[in-house]
Amino acid sequence: MTRIAPLDPPARLLMGPGPISAYPSVLRAMSAPLVGQYDPFMTSAMGEVQALYREVWATGNDATLLVDGTSRAGIEAALVSLIRPGDRVLVPVFGRFGHLLAEIAERALAEVHTIEVEWGQVVPVSLIEEAIVRVEPTLLALVQGDTSTTMNQPLDEVGAICAKHGVLFYSDATASLGGNEFLADEWGLDAATAGLQKCLGGPSGSSPITLSDRAVEVIRTRTRVEAGIREEGDASASDFIRTNYFDLGMILDYWGPRRLNHHTEATSMLYAARECAAVLLNEGRSQVIERHRVAGAAMLAGVEGLGLGVFGDVAHKMNNVVAVVIPDGVPADAARQAVLDDFGIEIGTSFGPLHGRVWRIGTMGYNARKDAVLTTLAALEAVLRRFGASVPAGGGVEAAADVFRAAESGAGASGAVA
Ligand SMILES: *Cc1c(COP(=O)(O)O)cnc(C)c1O
Repeated sequence: MTRIAPLDPPARLLMGPGPISAYPSVLRAMSAPLVGQYDPFMTSAMGEVQALYREVWATGNDATLLVDGTSRAGIEAALVSLIRPGDRVLVPVFGRFGHLLAEIAERALAEVHTIEVEWGQVVPVSLIEEAIVRVEPTLLALVQGDTSTTMNQPLDEVGAICAKHGVLFYSDATASLGGNEFLADEWGLDAATAGLQKCLGGPSGSSPITLSDRAVEVIRTRTRVEAGIREEGDASASDFIRTNYFDLGMILDYWGPRRLNHHTEATSMLYAARECAAVLLNEGRSQVIERHRVAGAAMLAGVEGLGLGVFGDVAHKMNNVVAVVIPDGVPADAARQAVLDDFGIEIGTSFGPLHGRVWRIGTMGYNARKDAVLTTLAALEAVLRRFGASVPAGGGVEAAADVFRAAESGAGASGAVA
């Protein structure tokens, strides 16, 4: 038998809407030796990860931990654990991931109500409050950054509205956390989830989650199931969480002081999540957000410098992704493929109504960097020209470089990055 060749992925610069190229230190952390599930090193690393992610989320929530699985695992754990069958759930939809929240809530047997705005817009807070008053939901599920449209939904006023009406407030911050402001406590979040493969600069496969005391109480008052045996004497025996793997009650007991056996925590992913948080906090949360802001502004200036249009309400764009309107006559998929084949750079396609109309270019985590932005713009220019588009020579790179230069001199003059 011939020997199987060693794994040898091609060199890629991942400049799509995620996944992105991981920080090198995250990849190194993932190759650290494994320890047993209850090894003191492991349990202390779990505790340390909880403390680090409290900083990342800007929360004092005791219940701050990881759900094993991609971002969707965190979403599903949160929704299935917080929603009782028949609960009314309100989902404002402004892109693909709002539809995902609505679908998962429906699978959790909620009575789902949606309000929708056109793709490329965010949902006005007044519209959200009006719907809360009309629907009287037990839970509001709202995406922060929706990569399908690049929009960053303002959340800062939503928590107070939810609190006023006695509604639990959940947000999917997968695309935005680390690259845009997110203040779980100040904004009144009851639950929020994310993933590593966007601004946090890791691989997909671990989902940070944080839960307020109120959310934990909702989970704790549901009927407990252990090894298939339901709690006795419970009047609402049908109220148990209908998943084992994503039962946040059980996951909390595993992460908590009781350390009740549930799954086997994904050790290498825990190492990755720890390093993602370490990179963020060592550089500083607001410094990392500023780095994303500058890289995103440079990419935006660069695509505009190439004479390309940008999709959506740019004033509400996430820092870390831009939707570029594909010029007439340029074949969307063939050009994107050429960027990959000839330059080793991946940019993103689009979903639904935007498919074939826009590419999504990300500047996230490790790739929120000057050289990554300038290289991508140079490659885009070359490929666009090859496919017959007339683009100003150097217009993208120059405009982006100007943004970086202004940010550097601004930072130098004031002695600090704003
Ligand atoms: C990218 C993204 C996800 C991804 O979920 P995975 O399960 O990690 O693929 C979820 N939600 C939002 C808002 C995203 O942008």
